[in-house]
Parts: sequence; C-alpha cells; structure tokens
Amino acid sequence: MPQSSDALIIGGGHNGLVCAAYLAAAGLKVTVLEQRAVVGGAAVTEEFYPGFRNSVAAYTVSLLNPKVIRDLELPKYGLRVVERKLANFLPSDDGRYLKVGAGVTRSEVAKFSSADAQRLDTSSKKWPTFCATWSSRRRPMSSRAAGARRCPNCCRPRDWVAA
Ligand SMILES: Cc1cc2nc3c(=O)[nH]c(=O)nc-3n(C[C@H](O)[C@H](O)[C@H](O)COP(=O)(O)OP(=O)(O)OC[C@H]3O[C@@H](n4cnc5c(N)ncnc54)[C@H](O)[C@@H]3O)c2cc1C
Repeated sequence: MPQSSDALIIGGGHNGLVCAAYLAAAGLKVTVLEQRAVVGGAAVTEEFYPGFRNSVAAYTVSLLNPKVIRDLELPKYGLRVVERKLANFLPSDDGRYLKVGAGVTRSEVAKFSSADAQRLDTSSKKWPTFCATWSSRRRPMSSRAAGARRCPNCCRPRDWVAA
C-alpha cells in the first residue's frame, strides 16, 4: 500500500473504481481498498462454471452511464455489451422454466398461471408511468424539476404506487 494518498476509496465495486479512475485522471494519487481478492463488487466477472465467465450478480448495463463508458474508454479494455435474445430465463428446481421477453412472455406465464397471463397486458400498460417516474427521480436535483415539468402526472409517488 502506498505511504501517502490524496484519496482513499473503501470498496472496489464499480462505483469505487469509476471514482478512482476519475480522481486519478484529475491528477490525484488514489488508493482503493477492497476486502475481496477481486475487484468489481456486484458487477464482478467470475467463472461460475468451468469455461463460463459472467457477472454473477448484476447482469445488465441499464444503469451504467454512457458517459463513463466513453470517458474511461471501456471498449478499448474489453467491454462488449451483448444484447440478450431473451430478457430473462428463469429455471426452477423441478425442471420447469420461464422465459421472459421476445414475444413469449404471455405464453410462458400461462404455463404457470393462466390468470396471471391474462392480466399481463393491463400491468404492462402501467410500466411507462412507473419508468418515467423512476427516471425523473434518478436525475440530479437540478434537472429533476425539469423532468417534473415535462411529466407532471408521473412524478408523484402515489401515482406509481397506485400503478
Ligand atoms: C443480485 C443483484 C443484481 C443486480 N443486477 C443489476 C443489473 O443487472 N444491472 C445494474 O445496473 N445493476 C444491478 N444491480 C445493482 C448493482 O450491482 C449495484 O448498483 C452496484 O454493484 C453498486 O456498485 P458499488 O460499487 O456502489 O457497490 P458494490 O458493487 O456493492 O461494491 C462494493 C465493494 O466494496 C467492497 N467492500 C465493502 N465493504 C468494504 C470494506 N469495509 N473494506 C473493503 N472493501 C469493502 C465489497 O467487497 C465490494 O467489492 C444488482 C445488484 C444485485 C445485488
């Protein structure tokens, strides 16, 4: 460990590593302290089965800001975003499975519950409201107000709780 640092970051998850990279790029001497033998936190790439490597927890890049990808030149260091053919494949212990996405969700859900399959369309229609609310809430404060103006009906918690 270096004798002196300008910044100490506890935890080498992707947020810690991104902060460290920006601080180092700004000329600071940065030390990252990670308790595990590998860095990456919940977005760590590990061999979960011989020959198969993947992130064993987080598996979509939905929350990764594209600016970070650009600034840190991640493709140059091996980042490759793979588009999923299915949103999810969910196996159960009894040998059954549920596929989600790619136009098969309703028939797949019907294998488990025809009542739930019939309600899917109604619940799906409520997702845009929920997503718009969520997006407006994860913007910085300064732009949140702008989001509220653009979407006056979907920025109140009671709307998406009801949805
Ligand atoms: C099961 C699961 C699935 C997820 N799926 C997705 C997904 O698909 N897409 C998505 O965008 N997000 C997903 N997330 C959320 C995403 O993983 C987190 O937002 C992200 O990992 C947070 O990064 P982080 O660096 O803040 O923390 P973490 O990834 O939790 O990393 C924290 C790091 O700090 C280390 N640490 C903790 N305490 C100490 C200490 N005292 N000393 C030293 N080191 C310490 C830990 O070992 C770890 O490496 C998922 C989360 C989980 C749990």
